[in-house]
Amino acid sequence: MEFEEGDRVKVEKGGVQYEGIVMPSTTGHIIIKMISGYNAGIDPQGATVTIIQKKQDMPVSSKAAGKGGIRSKPGLPKVSILSTGGTIASKIDYRTGAVTSQFSADDILQAIPELTEIANFSGKAIYNILSENMKAEYWQELSRAVVEEIKNGADGIIIAHGTDTMMYSAAALSFMIDTPVPIVFVGSQRSADRPSSDNAMNAICAAKVAVSDIAEVTVVMHGDGSDDKCSIHRATKVRKMHTSRRDAFRSINSEPIGYVDYATGEICTSLPYAKRNEKELALNNSLEPKCALVKFTPGASPDILGYFIDAGYKGIVIEGTGLGHVSTDWIPQIERATSKNIPVMVTSQCLNGRICDRVYDTGRDILKAGAIEGEDMLPEVALVKMMWTLGQIQDYGAAVDILKGNIRSEINERSLM
Ligand code: GLU
Repeated sequence: MEFEEGDRVKVEKGGVQYEGIVMPSTTGHIIIKMISGYNAGIDPQGATVTIIQKKQDMPVSSKAAGKGGIRSKPGLPKVSILSTGGTIASKIDYRTGAVTSQFSADDILQAIPELTEIANFSGKAIYNILSENMKAEYWQELSRAVVEEIKNGADGIIIAHGTDTMMYSAAALSFMIDTPVPIVFVGSQRSADRPSSDNAMNAICAAKVAVSDIAEVTVVMHGDGSDDKCSIHRATKVRKMHTSRRDAFRSINSEPIGYVDYATGEICTSLPYAKRNEKELALNNSLEPKCALVKFTPGASPDILGYFIDAGYKGIVIEGTGLGHVSTDWIPQIERATSKNIPVMVTSQCLNGRICDRVYDTGRDILKAGAIEGEDMLPEVALVKMMWTLGQIQDYGAAVDILKGNIRSEINERSLM
């Protein structure tokens, strides 16, 4: 009998056996989703396929099969998974092959049963969006949901999030929440229907961090090209640096806090971090959404900056060149902004390294115009910090002091790298 998508099969090739559900394939390979949550792609040449169960004989879904399958295990920590959407929260419909962004904790646990050895999970879908559609008010709602879960006794939080803007959301929650427990952002670059999906590994590593003593907001994602480890990035020092690689997330101007060894589940740390229960839970989630991140390019008109001043923006971050420069004709606009009590912070397109506007004349004039050096902060972190700071405080001088200060290790006192 011919096998088709959705059937449970056993594939034997070269003495190796694979068992799982047949997935859609566009390459001619047989793709099966194994019980581990991983997919295997097998060249059909020389492979023997045995059908174990036809798809029409299988239950419609895990829910239809009965919800009682996953029981809580006494003694394990409690972890809440909050989903906002993105690839990690997608589910494969084995009948149609479609990838749909559905979510329930049960769905995740059915797909990745290893998780049940790490913690007892509960899940909530907060949003079901692609992360390019995130916005400040969603960060606020998410922060409230996180705090509620912690108040209800969660020992750790996992936030499933699209990877595109994960670092903005992670930075926002990092500024907003004083947390006594780990808050871990996780995503996946490749959906579960692809042979090289990072879904299961990232989720398992995120769960390990969620039950660890790293009580910070972190991003836990594939750490290198292989399947050895996930990196634990500090929320204020991380960036998506590749469109498609699984190890797209990199700590910038910092080492990651540490790594999770996928094989052993062991966590190795190399940076100091806030420990579990060190901080009292607190939420300060007011934000000023009318802040802009403006990229300077050679020959760009100073009118660009002028637009934001006249449109009533309350804070501006400039992504300048090199050590933190813009052309001389932008400087009067910087001065106009600061004289209207609109803070202007300069960061660098180089990403790596630190702003120093005291070396060249342009830089010195930028400082004279009232701009603040963004030190070694990523431009997007500076933007989120600006939104958070102006949400907390309206007084210009006090806001500038907060912007210059170091709140969540977003600034290294010295450049180490
Ligand atoms: N662009 C979408 C997002 O960031 C999907 C990709 C992903 O989940 O990484 O949500």
